Amino acid sequence: MTATRVAVLLPYPFDRAFDYILPDALVTTPGTLPQGTIVTVPLGKRMVPGVVWDDPPDAAMPDQRLKPIAAIIDAPTLPATLRRFIDWVANYTMAPRGEVLALALKSNLLDRPPDRFGWAATTPTTATSPRRQTVLDTLATLDRPDTAALAAAAGVSPAIVRAMADAGLLTQIRRDPGAPRLDPDAAPPTFSPEQAAAAAAIRASIDAQVFSVTLLEGVTGSGKTEIYCEAVAQALRQGRQALVLLPEIALSTQFTARLAARFGAAPTLWHSGLSPATRRANWHAIANGTAQLVLGARSALFLPFTDLGAIIVDEEHEAAYKQEDGVIYHARDMAVVRARLAAAGCILASATPSLESAINAEAGRYRHITLTARHGGAAMPSIETLDLRLAPPPRGKFLSPVLIEALTATLAAGGQSMLFLNRRGYAPLTLCRACGHRVTCPNCTAWLVEHRARISLLCHHCGHTERQPTLCPSCSAEHSFVPIGPGVERIAEEVAELFPDARRIVMASDVITTPEQAAAATRAIIAHDVDIIIGTQMIAKAWHFPDLTLVGVVDADLGLGGGDLRAGERSAQLLHQVAGRAGRAALPGRVILQSFAPDHPVMHALCSGDLAGFRAAEASLREPGHWPPFGRLAGVIISADQAEIADAAANALARTAPTDDVIVLGPAPAPFAMLRGRHRRRLLLRAPRTIALQPIIRAWLARATLPRAARIDIDIDPISF
Ligand code: ADP
Ligand code: ZN
Repeated sequence: MTATRVAVLLPYPFDRAFDYILPDALVTTPGTLPQGTIVTVPLGKRMVPGVVWDDPPDAAMPDQRLKPIAAIIDAPTLPATLRRFIDWVANYTMAPRGEVLALALKSNLLDRPPDRFGWAATTPTTATSPRRQTVLDTLATLDRPDTAALAAAAGVSPAIVRAMADAGLLTQIRRDPGAPRLDPDAAPPTFSPEQAAAAAAIRASIDAQVFSVTLLEGVTGSGKTEIYCEAVAQALRQGRQALVLLPEIALSTQFTARLAARFGAAPTLWHSGLSPATRRANWHAIANGTAQLVLGARSALFLPFTDLGAIIVDEEHEAAYKQEDGVIYHARDMAVVRARLAAAGCILASATPSLESAINAEAGRYRHITLTARHGGAAMPSIETLDLRLAPPPRGKFLSPVLIEALTATLAAGGQSMLFLNRRGYAPLTLCRACGHRVTCPNCTAWLVEHRARISLLCHHCGHTERQPTLCPSCSAEHSFVPIGPGVERIAEEVAELFPDARRIVMASDVITTPEQAAAATRAIIAHDVDIIIGTQMIAKAWHFPDLTLVGVVDADLGLGGGDLRAGERSAQLLHQVAGRAGRAALPGRVILQSFAPDHPVMHALCSGDLAGFRAAEASLREPGHWPPFGRLAGVIISADQAEIADAAANALARTAPTDDVIVLGPAPAPFAMLRGRHRRRLLLRAPRTIALQPIIRAWLARATLPRAARIDIDIDPISF
C-alpha cells in the first residue's frame, strides 16, 4: 500500500511546493487532507509552517525520500480564491510562490490560538495530574474562558493550560459570535440627484455578484466615500465580505470612525501597526467570515476572506500602492485580479485617476462613474500660481509676500491654513560654505537631510544617521556647513518667526509615526486647536478639515524634475489632492502655488481644473513609444556589492536581446542607484501591449550567465520610467 503524499507550499523563497507524506494518525479519514490546510513540516533541521497546495505530487520521487507532515495546525484553511491569487501574483510578478505565500501566512498568526477563542474540555477527559484535574474541574464551572482567565481561576500558571492543550485535553472553541454585526442600513446618507445615480450604479455592480471594475471619479469632497460605502452595504446585504484599501495607514483612524458611523459598528483593521494579538484575532475573524468589512493597507489583499464581494481601492492613483521591496507588486492592479478571482466588484476611487485607470475606463474595460459637484454646494477652491521670479521671498526665506499676506488675512479671520512642502526634515542639502562639499550617505548615493528636531543628518533611503560634522571633511573649515533649501521643519521655523502666536503643527512621517498620533493631530485640527498646518504628502491625502480655507504650496515645481516620464502626472495628482483640502465646508477655499514655472502644463491644468485635458496631453506623449499604459514595461534590476560587477552584469545582459518584439533600454542607474550598500543598475524592457513580458524574461535570464555576486530583481510595471 502506498502512502498518501501531498504538496506543501512553504512561506520561503521557493517557487515549487514540496511533497510530504501524510501519516494516517494525523487525520480522521486516512489519506485525505483538504487543500489549504495549514501544517507543520520539517525543512532541513527546522520545523516550519506550510500550506497544502493544489499541485500534483511528483510521481518520480520515491516515498523513502519524503518526510512526513509533523502536525496539522488548528487554524482555518486558506481558501481556494486566495491560493489562486497567490499563484497568480507569483506568476505575474515573477516572485517565487513561497515568497508570495509569506505575505499571506505570517507565522505569528499561528503560534497561539486567537484570543477570541476560549477553552473547552475534550472528551474523554481524564487528567494525568492533580493540577490538571483542578483545571478540568474549574473549566466545568466556566463558560469558554481564555487562557489567562482559566489559569487564574484554577490557580495555575498559563503554561499548564497550554501544555494541556498540547496534550489534547483542551480544545479551543469560539467564545463569542465574533465582531459586532454591521448594519448596511444603519445610517445611509440622503443623496443629491447626482450622487443617487452614482450610488445606484455602484449597487448594481455589486448586486450582479460577478467580476467588474468601476472607476469612481469625483472631485474632492464630492462624496466618493459615501458612494463606495453603497458597494460595501450591498456586499453586506448579500452576506459577502468587503475590503476597503487605503494608501496610508495614518488615515485609518479617520476612516474607521466614518465607516463605524455609516454601518453602526467598526470595521476590522489590517495594517502593520496592529498588535500581534489584534492581528491574530482579526485574521481569524476574516478567515471564519465573522469580519464583514476590512479596512486595510495593501497587504490586506492577502487575507483569507471566505467570500469577498467588494474591493474598494481609495485614492487609486497613489504611488504608495506600489510595493517596492520583496515581492514587487502594485496593490491597485492586484486588487483587480483578486476581485476577478473572487467574482467580486472592484471600485477604484480617485479625484485624479491614474492614466492607466482613465484609459481603461475610456476603452470600456472599466465602468466609469463621475461626480462633478462638491457635496452641500461647497465651491471648488480657487487655484492661482504665484510667480516666484516676480515676487521672490526674502533671502534665505521661502514664503513669498503674497502668501504671507494670505496667511495673515486667514489668521485674522479666524480661519485655518495649510502649507505643503513634500520634503521632510530641515534642509534637503547640507553644504560646506567654504568648499562646497556635500554630505552624502556612505551606503546610498543620496545626500543626507538635516533634521534639526533630532540634531542629526539622516538618509531618507536607508535610515543612516550621523551628527553634522563640525569640521568639513574636505577642506577642514570649521562650522562651515549651511542648510540649502527648505524642508517642513524649516518652514515651521519661518512660520514661528512670522506668526509667533499662531498655533502650528508639523505633519510628516518622521514626526507622526503611528495612527494614534495621526488621530490626535486630526482631532486637534478638526477642533480648530491649530491655526497653521505644515506638512509633507501626509497632509495631501483624503483628510477632511472643515475649517481649512487656505492652502499654500511652498514649492509647486518640486515633483517636476528628475526626467521621469510620469513626473507630470504624479505632480498634478499630488497638487490637486493638496488643493482639494481647501474650502471643503461652508467657507470658500483659496490655493496658492509658489512656482518658478507658472507656464508649465501641470500648473495650467491645476488652475483651470482641466485634468482630463492634461491626461489627454500626457497620453499623446506616451502612446507613440508604447510607454505605459499603452505598452508593457518591466524593470530588470541588477545589483551587486561592487559597482564593477553590477555594471559588467548589466552590460552583458543588455547585449543579448530577448526577442525582436522587445526593446531593451539601458543599463542606467536604477531608481536608488545605491541602496543599502548595493549598487543597482536597471534595464527597462518595453513591448507592445499584446506581448506578455514574463515568459520572455524567464527564457532570457535562463540563457544568460551572470556572475554569482550579481542579483536580479524584476519589477513588472515599474512606476518610474
Ligand atoms: P470625497 O471622498 O469625494 O473627497 P467625501 O465622501 O469625503 O468626499 O465627502 C465630503 C464630505 O461631505 C464628508 O464629510 C461627507 O460625509 C459629506 N457628504 C458627502 N455626501 C453627503 C451626503 N449625501 N449627505 C451628507 N453628507 C455628505
Ligand atoms: Zn543611505
